[in-house]
Amino acid sequence: MNIAHWLARTAQVAGDGPAILMGGEVVESYARFHARAGALARSLAADGLAPGDRVAIFSRNCPDYLVAMFGIWAAGAVAVPINAKLHPKEAAFILHDSGAARVFTSADLTAALAAETGLPMTALHSDAFAALTTGAPLPVADRQATDLAWLFYTSGTTGKPKGVQITHGMIAATSTCYPIEVDPVSPADAALYAAPMSHGAGLYAAIHVRMGARHMVPPSGGFDPAEVLALSADHGPTSMFMAPTMVRRLTDTARATGQRGDGIKTIVYGGGPMYRADIEEAVDWFGPRFVQIYGQGECPMAITALSRADVADRSHPRWRERLASVGRAQSLVEVAIGDAEARPLPPGEIGEIMVRGAPVMPGYWRNPGATAKALKDGWLMTGDVGHLDADGYLTLADRSKDVIISGGTNIYPREVEEVLLTHPAVHEVSVVGRPSEEWGEDVVAFVVATPGQTLDPATLDAHCLSQIARFKRPKAYYPLPDLPKNNYGKVLKTELRKLLEDMT
Ligand code: ATP
Repeated sequence: MNIAHWLARTAQVAGDGPAILMGGEVVESYARFHARAGALARSLAADGLAPGDRVAIFSRNCPDYLVAMFGIWAAGAVAVPINAKLHPKEAAFILHDSGAARVFTSADLTAALAAETGLPMTALHSDAFAALTTGAPLPVADRQATDLAWLFYTSGTTGKPKGVQITHGMIAATSTCYPIEVDPVSPADAALYAAPMSHGAGLYAAIHVRMGARHMVPPSGGFDPAEVLALSADHGPTSMFMAPTMVRRLTDTARATGQRGDGIKTIVYGGGPMYRADIEEAVDWFGPRFVQIYGQGECPMAITALSRADVADRSHPRWRERLASVGRAQSLVEVAIGDAEARPLPPGEIGEIMVRGAPVMPGYWRNPGATAKALKDGWLMTGDVGHLDADGYLTLADRSKDVIISGGTNIYPREVEEVLLTHPAVHEVSVVGRPSEEWGEDVVAFVVATPGQTLDPATLDAHCLSQIARFKRPKAYYPLPDLPKNNYGKVLKTELRKLLEDMT
């Protein structure tokens, strides 16, 4: 059941065919990728690493990231991806919590991390790493479906990061749905790593290895819209995963330079709320190449998907409504709406989104308290609030922790944000609750102005009143030059709430 077998199998079929590209240049064939991963597994085992041990990767996207992942899996060990933008102290928390035995890093991160931990460290793309990946390969270690493959730490937007246990069986399940319900990947395609591999893109790599696609790492190592457009034009058909803010930046750059995204086959977007105005603009410009996924570490890759046809079909009478949804459940999960005790609610009612099925985690790593809160009666409680329509489309209202309760009524910040974003002076906005003695919470908005425009609270208030109920409109507007975000582009509402505390 070890997913490292996927690389062995693809290497048999593809042989010297291209596997990993740095920009446009092939740096590994499938045969060499497989041989290096197998040699790494032998080096790790020779060093005393046993199946089930954890090995962390604290690195930016690079070709050797993929070699390290598959080498760790071939040895039967568990990969622990750590976001390269975390502070070394935050990375050290994850290393300690996971009990990692060693770390692979980007060369420039090694010194800072060494100051925080005494763990053995090897930089990717170094002579030392090359030595570990040379020699006779180890046969792929036996693993069961329930054995861990990937210990993924939540980004901690709602608390301390928790280690989500992702098993070989979960990855196998989710990768079976992916080419059918998200993107029909073929060996002719390239996967472009515009988003960090330490997030969902690592598992996306596993799926693309299984399908024999090329893996294209942008030389910038991060997200540069001009680079994405140029690489896909030259090396398409290209698929990529993007957070909503990245889609917006890509559209802006493409429009400004008159590029229609030649070579882009599919842009899979998700990981945070995509505002309707932004996706409409992206579809207007690029055409039918978008698929949305809604997922979380606890049910990796996708809980639901909004298909290419759903996103593109303007002639459908409910197109706009569907565009604001996150689509329908993938075929291996069941989605329901429940109350806090996981009791399903009648159709159409708004409540907590619950999921069960093969890709759902067995629990958090060494954290029975958090596991008991997240898994109730066989359901994963996602912490997101939403409703299902009669055709099975799921619409997210917000994260339950972000819902504002004012005068005993629930207000979903996303609804207010959607309205404010349609005002031309508003470039970005985030709505949160401010503690109030009278109402429990007041609605307030942090707003980033469109360059060259001024934000006038009275005008914004009138704009809200023309579209939503009085009680939902913000009582105050706070201009900001930027919204605080994590490296995945998600707004950190906890930071905004701290700003409010500091103001009082
Ligand atoms: P933490 O759980 O520590 O707060 P996190 O929010 O970053 O970290 P992730 O697993 O990275 O955890 O993100 C999952 C969350 O992102 C979902 O629960 C949901 O709130 C949001 N999300 C994911 N996809 C979508 C989507 N397509 N539309 C809206 N929100 C989404």
